Amino acid sequence: MQRDKEIITLSHGSGGVLTDSLIENLFFKYLKNELLIQKNDATVLPLLNGKFSITTDSFVVDPIFFPGGDIGKLAVCGTVNDLAASGARPLYLTAGFILEEGLPVSQLEKIVSSMANTALEAGVRIIAGDTKVVEKGKADKVFINTTGLGLLLQDDYPAGERARPGDRVLISGSIGDHGLAVLTRRANFGFSSNFASDCSILSGLAAEIVNRCRGIRVMRDPTRGGLATTLQEIARQSRVEIIVEENQIPIKEEVRSVCELLGLDPLYLASEGKMLVITSPEESAHLLNIMRKHKLGKEAVVIGEVVSGKGKKVYLRTKSSGTRILHPMESEMVPRIC
Ligand code: MG
Repeated sequence: MQRDKEIITLSHGSGGVLTDSLIENLFFKYLKNELLIQKNDATVLPLLNGKFSITTDSFVVDPIFFPGGDIGKLAVCGTVNDLAASGARPLYLTAGFILEEGLPVSQLEKIVSSMANTALEAGVRIIAGDTKVVEKGKADKVFINTTGLGLLLQDDYPAGERARPGDRVLISGSIGDHGLAVLTRRANFGFSSNFASDCSILSGLAAEIVNRCRGIRVMRDPTRGGLATTLQEIARQSRVEIIVEENQIPIKEEVRSVCELLGLDPLYLASEGKMLVITSPEESAHLLNIMRKHKLGKEAVVIGEVVSGKGKKVYLRTKSSGTRILHPMESEMVPRIC
């Protein structure tokens, strides 16, 4: 294929010769494995033993390339990290692509190659896929859906409804990096920066946590809606209240200052490489130790505590010792962030 000039056409999604060539020369070039090449209507998996978790997510990020990642890396990290947060070792992914007519094949190749590298790093294989092409203007360059299957590492797995009063809330590092990185690359944004997304594979860190600590109640990656939204989801699911300390929440200076400039709240800005963990009070010092030993948890801190209360509210104790409620977001602050 002459990738530098070639563009995606409706025929690439027709199921004919061009679809075949796209599969053989591009998708298989990067993603080939013995399960993917079965080429049947469905992939037959080897015998698996244990309890599984499954998750699916669609990625529509704009722009498709940003400092620290691209839509391909994000589509693998997002689904792998959701499996990891459920206490599973990610095994397999499927990938569905919706391409806009006119997309340069070279851009698709960059994205697929990035998916392959990220999948390799995560130890997952992409074992089934699909490609559709829509007319110019009916989609925006490329959308990707990934579904992931993971094997639970422990019988006692973390879940959103398990937070109890007295539990401690920990975060693995600074929040809002991904949201800011994507936002400041938007063409219509006014200024651009090279601030990088934190987009990364969290399954290694999560495995350390669930295998080496007892009493892990909840794990969740604060993606869309940010830390505040993730905490509200947990408070509702567990029927508790949560108090977090503003001066303990790690936020990079750049994120803080751009948010101030734009009137955005960093607590609602997406991260794509951070894990929020809730654990019993007895286990929290040990957990902090385990997290800080991992390269993606070096800046882990305790940011708050679960308390009883029927309001299912999340409170922020501010630097000036006041308290404010972190309300659920009413409208999407930053659309198409993932
Ligand atoms: Mg998640």
